[in-house]
Amino acid sequence: MGILDTGIRNAKNVRNYMFGPGSIQSLPKLLQAPRQNRDQRVGFFIDEFFKNNASILNNLAIESGDHVVFVPTEKEPTTDQIDSYLSAIREKNLNISAIVGMGGGITLDVAKAVANLLTNPGKAADYQGWDLVKNPAVYKIGIPTISGTGAEATRTCVMTNTKTGVKLGMNSDFTVYDQIILDSDLTSTVSRDQYFWTGMDTYVHCIEALAGSYRNAIGDAFSREAVNLCQQVFLSEDMMTSEAREKLMVASYLGGCAIATSYVGVVHPFSAGLSVVLGLHHCVSNCIVMRAVEEFYPEPYAEFWKMVEKQNIHIPEGVCRGLKDEEFDRLYASTIVHEKPLTNALGPNFGKILTREKVKETFLKM
Ligand code: NAD
Ligand code: ZN
Repeated sequence: MGILDTGIRNAKNVRNYMFGPGSIQSLPKLLQAPRQNRDQRVGFFIDEFFKNNASILNNLAIESGDHVVFVPTEKEPTTDQIDSYLSAIREKNLNISAIVGMGGGITLDVAKAVANLLTNPGKAADYQGWDLVKNPAVYKIGIPTISGTGAEATRTCVMTNTKTGVKLGMNSDFTVYDQIILDSDLTSTVSRDQYFWTGMDTYVHCIEALAGSYRNAIGDAFSREAVNLCQQVFLSEDMMTSEAREKLMVASYLGGCAIATSYVGVVHPFSAGLSVVLGLHHCVSNCIVMRAVEEFYPEPYAEFWKMVEKQNIHIPEGVCRGLKDEEFDRLYASTIVHEKPLTNALGPNFGKILTREKVKETFLKM
């Protein structure tokens, strides 16, 4: 397969990024401008993990009258959940001049969606798609506390509409954070398995992008460096030293930038199937799918399992054993629907390769 044009010409990046251990202490200064008028309030969306962590919360300079939400992470965001966050702000009639999202991909996405809806009428589900957001969002700051999804860099915020089953973000330049703070001190408390699963999201995005046929020089450059950093982190003796955590935070950001001009491949569509049908979270799902993709990505497959072994990580197994035919039908439908990534990986006739039987066989390998 030759290299094909991605069709992407004009990519938006985060406007400002602050980096380095301890950089979160600059947050109060960044919030001075949005707090200029006395009635202006900041909306904080914070991963529930930090709810009782006074030493972290004290850095955020939360003021009385600010709107603080601790975001649950048991389930991935839904459009109804976003709408309810909006209603809570509207009921209090608050003048929100900045949104701060601090946490993993879930929390970063929730904060992006809320910031968009504060300046655009209607409901979250109205904006699931491409370039549907009409007005610039409220100024927003993203602070990742776990590395890998690249949500701090991308122009989307993934949400599921539980009524229609559609899992799709608000893909828009307005969704991109105005400011991010990459403080790797914040990731020291992540559990080892979760650190690996989420960190691997950037590795998987980038090996899929680099093996695809829709390519360009800038996407390749971001992807190659993100993969290089992941190799340094996950093939080292300890993936969670402060140096490794700093590298992984950069890999995540670069991986997010890579996605702006490239496409994923086979892993993400299968992973989406697991999320939609079995409710498994995105990053652990990717790792589970890696059990079954040796034929598509032989070298990354071997490297991935070497990393798993080196870091002694648990990857769930046998998740599709004993499922009913009806569930395999749904798995097939929710995988095959991802035409662009599958075309990127396998060409326009991907359906001839990924037959119903082949897809079922692949899920059974997981
Ligand atoms: P997450 O938000 O699902 O969090 C995973 C777990 O880590 C949670 O239990 C959380 O409380 C915990 N956690 C976070 N920071 C911690 C810390 N410092 N210490 C201890 N625990 C901590 O994490 P994720 O894997 O980063 O995000 C997955 C989500 O990201 C999914 O909803 C997925 O759809 C989304 N995603 C978004 C994009 C995008 O471009 N917007 C890209 C990929 C994935
Ligand atoms: Zn991903």
